[in-house]
Amino acid sequence: MSANPYPLGLRLAGRRVVVVGGGAVATRRVPALLDAGADVFLVAPELTPALHAQADAGRLHWAPRRFAPDDLDGAWLVQVAVDDPVAAASVSAAAAERRIFCVRADDRAAATAWTPAVTRHGAVTVAVLGGGDPRRAMTVRDAVRDLLNVRTGLPAEEGPDLAGPAAVPAGRTVAPGSGGAGAAAAAGPVGRVALVGAGPGDPELITVKGWRLLTEADVVVADRLVPGLLLDELRPDVELVDASKIPYGPSRAQEEINRILVDRALAGHVVVRLKGGDPYVFGRGGEELLACAAAGVPVTVVPGVTSAIAVPAVAGVPVTHRAVAHEFTVVSGHVAPDSPASLVSWPALAGLRGTLVVLMGLKNLAAITATLAAHGRDPATPVAVVQEGTTGAQRTLRSTLGEVAADVVAAGLRPPAIVVIGDVVGALDAS
Ligand code: SAH
Repeated sequence: MSANPYPLGLRLAGRRVVVVGGGAVATRRVPALLDAGADVFLVAPELTPALHAQADAGRLHWAPRRFAPDDLDGAWLVQVAVDDPVAAASVSAAAAERRIFCVRADDRAAATAWTPAVTRHGAVTVAVLGGGDPRRAMTVRDAVRDLLNVRTGLPAEEGPDLAGPAAVPAGRTVAPGSGGAGAAAAAGPVGRVALVGAGPGDPELITVKGWRLLTEADVVVADRLVPGLLLDELRPDVELVDASKIPYGPSRAQEEINRILVDRALAGHVVVRLKGGDPYVFGRGGEELLACAAAGVPVTVVPGVTSAIAVPAVAGVPVTHRAVAHEFTVVSGHVAPDSPASLVSWPALAGLRGTLVVLMGLKNLAAITATLAAHGRDPATPVAVVQEGTTGAQRTLRSTLGEVAADVVAAGLRPPAIVVIGDVVGALDAS
C-alpha cells in the first residue's frame, strides 16, 4: 500500500522543466508548462508540428536528440513523455540521483510525481488526483467544472445539440445520405463534425458552445493557432490530430484534413475541428464544411471570436469609434499587391477613410503600405501592429503608414500579427 500523495502548486516561472519526448503526450503537457512560465527544455529527436512551432517561435528550447542524464542538471522537474520503458526508466534514474521530481506518462507506479486532472476558472485552479485511477480523477474534475459552470451561468448538463437536424439551424446541417456518399453513411452509425472557432489566443475567449462541444468530442483536429491550454483539459482517450499548417514548413494538405474529418465521423465519432479565431475568416472552414456535406456527414459551424476584431481591441484599438471611423475592412495580406494571384483591390482600399485590418500581412507589409500610400492614403495615418494578441506574449507597436514596415523589421515582430491602419489607432489614448 502506498502513502497518500502530497498536493502542491508548483511555481515554475523562469524555472527549468525538462520534457523528454516530442510526441502526442508532450504536445498536451507543454502548453500548461509554458502557461506557468516554465523554462521548458525539450529533448526529443523529432517533434510534432505544434511543438516545432513553439520551438521555432523561441518559446522553448529544443535539443534534437535522445536524452542524456546531464540534461537534468539545473532542472526543477522532469516530465517523461516517451513510450519506451527502458528510455523512461533511465530518465527516472537520472532524476532520482539529482533529487528531481519525475512525472512518468508511461508508468504511474514508477513516477515520483503525478499530474492531476485540472480545470481552470480565471485565477482558480482545481486539481484532482484519483488515487491511481486517472479516470476517476477526470470524473470528479468534470463534476467540479460543471459546478463552477453552474455558478458562472454556463449550462452544466445538456445533451449535444447536433444529434438531430431539428436542433440545428436550417441550412447548416446536411443529414446523412443527402450528400454524395449516401452509401458510406448508411453503413453504420454516423458521427458528426463541428467546425469550432477557438478564439484568438486567450483560452477563455472560446464560446460557451464551442467549449461544450470540445468537452464532448471523441476526436479533436486542431490548428497551430489554437490556444494550447484548451487541449490540456481533453480526456486522455480523445484522439488529438495536429493539423498544423506551418508557413514554409511541413504541412498536411487540406484534403488530408478533410479526409480525417470525414473518416472519423463516418466511423461514428464526434469530431471537433478546432480553428483559430473564427472558422470562416481566412480559415478554410468553408472547404471543410463542403467536404463533410459531400460525404453525407452532419456538420455544423460554431462561430468564434475573430482575431481581426479582438486583437486590436485588447491592444487598445477599437475597430470603429464615433466620429472617427464608420467602417472597417478586413483583408488578407498573404498575397503581394502586385501579384497576379491577388484578389484584393488595394487602390480601392487606399481610397477608403475607415479602418483597415490586415491579417497575415507582415511578409508583404512594405509593399502593402507603399501601395496604399501611392494610391492616396496619407503616410501619416496611424498604424498599430499586434503580435500574438490576447496571449501572455502579446507585443504591440505603434507607427505610421509611411514608417511601419521598417519599424516592424527593427522591432523583430513575427507572425501571427495583425496590422490596424486608421485614425482609430490612438482614438482611446488619453489626450
Ligand atoms: N480564422 C482566424 C484567422 C486565420 S488567418 C481568425 O478569425 O482570427 C491567421 C492570421 O490571423 C495570422 O497570420 C494573423 O494575422 C491573425 N491572427 C490570428 N491570431 C492572432 C493573434 N492572437 N494575434 C495576432 N494576429 C493573429
